[in-house]
Amino acid sequence: MIKIEHLNKTYNNSVKALDDINLDIEKGDIFGIVGLSGAGKSSLVRCINRLEEPDSGKVIIGNSDILKLGKNELIEQRKKIGMIFQNFNLFSSMTVFENIAYPLRLAKQDKNYIKKRVKELLEIVDLQDKAESYPSQLSGGQKQRVGIARAIANNPDVLLCDEATSALDPKTTGQILSLLKDINKQTSLTLVIITHEMEVIKQICNKVAIIEKGKIIDSGKVIDLFSKP
Ligand code: ADP
Ligand code: ADP
Repeated sequence: MIKIEHLNKTYNNSVKALDDINLDIEKGDIFGIVGLSGAGKSSLVRCINRLEEPDSGKVIIGNSDILKLGKNELIEQRKKIGMIFQNFNLFSSMTVFENIAYPLRLAKQDKNYIKKRVKELLEIVDLQDKAESYPSQLSGGQKQRVGIARAIANNPDVLLCDEATSALDPKTTGQILSLLKDINKQTSLTLVIITHEMEVIKQICNKVAIIEKGKIIDSGKVIDLFSKP
C-alpha cells in the first residue's frame, strides 16, 4: 500500500531530518510511527503527501511513485490519502454537516449523494444529532470525530493520523482509537498512526516503526517488539 525506499531529507543543508528511511505498510495495516519530538515524524508525513520535497528516495503509494507525479496526478493521488490532525483543522465558520460535505463538494458529487453520504458518515462517527452544530460547540473528541468523517468521506486508501489524539484526555483518546479500529476492521482502510505516545501504539497498532534522529531504529509487529526482553 505504501512503500518508502531510501528516503532522505535535509533542511538548510544541515539538519538531517530523514536519514535513509525504509518502510513497507500493507493494505489493512494499523501502522504506528513513534518517536520523540524532533525525531522526524512531521517531515516523514510531509514527504508522504508531498507537502515537502525530499532530497532522494521513493514514496510508492498504490502503483505510483508519488515523488514522480505531475501536478494534476498529484491532486488525484492526494484524494486517496485522508488526514486527521492534532488540532482537528475544522472550518470554524461551517457546521458539522458542511465540514463533512466539503471534500465531497470538491469531488463534485451531486447534492443527493452528498446528503446521503454525510448522513452515513455521521452515523459511523455517532454524531447524528450534531449535524447543524458548529465546531466551537463540540468537545475535543466530537471535533476529532468530525475530522475522521471528513477524512474518510471520499473513501481514501490510507488515513494518516498525525498526533490525532495528542490534544485529548486518556478516556477520549481510547474512544477515538476504538472508532479508528472499527473503521479499519469494517473497510480495511490502512491507518498510519503518527504519535509520540507509546501507549497509543500499544492500544491500536499491529505494526510499528520507531524513529529516532531521522532513522528507523526498530520496526516490526507490535506483539513481537513489546515482548522482547
Ligand atoms: P517531529 O515531527 O518528530 O517532531 P520534525 O520532522 O518536525 O520532527 O523535525 C525533524 C528535525 O528537522 C528537527 O531537528 C527539526 O528541528 C528539523 N526541521 C523540521 N522542519 C524544518 C524546517 N522547515 N526547517 C529546518 N529544520 C526543520
Ligand atoms: P511538530 O509538533 O509536528 O513536531 P513542530 O512544532 O516541530 O511540529 O514544527 C511546526 C512547523 O515548523 C512545521 O511546519 C515544521 O516543518 C517547522 N519547523 C520545525 N522545526 C523547524 C526549524 N528548526 N526551523 C524551521 N522550521 C521548523
